[in-house]
Amino acid sequence: MPSTSDLRRTKIIATLGPATESEEMLAKLITAGVDVLRLNMAHAKHDWTRMIIRRIRTVAAHVGREVAIMMDIKGPEIRTGDLEVPIELQPGEIFDFTVKPCATQGGAEVRSVDVNYSDLVNDIKVGDTVLVDSGLIRLEVLSKDQAHIRCRVLTPGSLTSRRHINLPGVKVNLPAFTQKDKLDSIVGIEEGVDFIALSFVREANDVEQLRLFLRERGSRALIIAKIEDQSAIDNLDEIIQATDALMVARGDLGIEVPLQELPVIQRRAVRTCLAIGRPVIIATHMLESMISQPMPTRAEITDVANAVYEQADCVMLSGETTIGKYPLECVRVLDTLSRRIEAEQATDFPQPAVFVQERMKTFRAAVVLANELPRSLILVFTRHGTNAAGIAAHRPPHAPVLAITDNVETLRHLRLVRSVEPFLLTPFGDPEETIERATAALVKIGRIRTGDKLIIVSDVQAKGRRIDSIQLRTVE
Ligand code: PEP
Repeated sequence: MPSTSDLRRTKIIATLGPATESEEMLAKLITAGVDVLRLNMAHAKHDWTRMIIRRIRTVAAHVGREVAIMMDIKGPEIRTGDLEVPIELQPGEIFDFTVKPCATQGGAEVRSVDVNYSDLVNDIKVGDTVLVDSGLIRLEVLSKDQAHIRCRVLTPGSLTSRRHINLPGVKVNLPAFTQKDKLDSIVGIEEGVDFIALSFVREANDVEQLRLFLRERGSRALIIAKIEDQSAIDNLDEIIQATDALMVARGDLGIEVPLQELPVIQRRAVRTCLAIGRPVIIATHMLESMISQPMPTRAEITDVANAVYEQADCVMLSGETTIGKYPLECVRVLDTLSRRIEAEQATDFPQPAVFVQERMKTFRAAVVLANELPRSLILVFTRHGTNAAGIAAHRPPHAPVLAITDNVETLRHLRLVRSVEPFLLTPFGDPEETIERATAALVKIGRIRTGDKLIIVSDVQAKGRRIDSIQLRTVE
């Protein structure tokens, strides 16, 4: 069992890119407390993906701290084609999106760019808005035929190659799980990623398709549904039921829905997840200014604090750690800020959700007991992570959840779950002997001390049957 520092409840996800892909930076990020490393397949090639996954595993073993890997597949994303030189779009300019590779140009006077989705002409209507490059360029659809969508530029800008297109309010008929997603996922499965995040999930069935794909290939990877457009919000409850975890992907969401709706949606998504014990990630622009500055803005600090107050499981860094100048400083800011807000919250904690399942009521009892006892820690034995996640769902305000597992995949899955500190102990044997070994190992690394109260959630043997139990023991 490697040693660990005291608990930070909120987990940190960092996206990898040129700023962080070296062995040296990976070691620094993992040591600084990053829990999950994310690979954004919108930009990653397969050779790089295989190389970086193996590198992460090697560095984590060297550092002595297992981290989880999330492969983020891009889903039904529409992009503009390649351009030899950027097009400087002018206000009021008439501009064409050409949707067939063989489409003729709109005439010498109308400039154009290809789009990677030929059915776009059927999905879009005259009067719709087309947003390009995170909404920086805005156009209005004037007319269309089978090969062109003719627009007027409302907000001008410089159009470069392969820019992302958003179509607020337009129901796009692209498949949820594209051919590229399948090929990317196969690489992820072969390399043993821990999570697959599916972009632009629009309904529960999108999640089910990915689940079937993973099951058919024997993968234990968990699914993270990314909500990024209005359809996802319309079907939010069923998506949360279907998925293993949710990501509030505020980058695209903030383009697809009116901006003032974003905090409202975030709060609703987090509450719905908490109500059924689903882990939830708040993503994008958390410390955006730190891409180029060593200090966050006051507004960013308050945004991160808000996510911690809302009791989200994870906060996520994207550009800050892929191309930013201060990736490590970003992780440190998230770490110190989360700890501060969590300490505040422990003095005035909100009522946790009440669950109907009997097992969840047992876990609740363990948390209630922990709340009554100073210096208590919850020690849960968990093979698949369900027991540990079940306890974490009750959001214990004081006691950490020390999760002992005999499975390294489970350990990595638990990196996503708020309040859980996972430890590996192999093999599990007789329940009493396993408790004793785990306790001795935790004492040895200094994680528990004489006099600490342990609330132990585990199986016990009773006349040959295994039954759930809660025990209270004092560390001797
Ligand atoms: C987002 O849109 O906020 C997001 C996390 O997705 P991506 O980085 O894939 O655009």
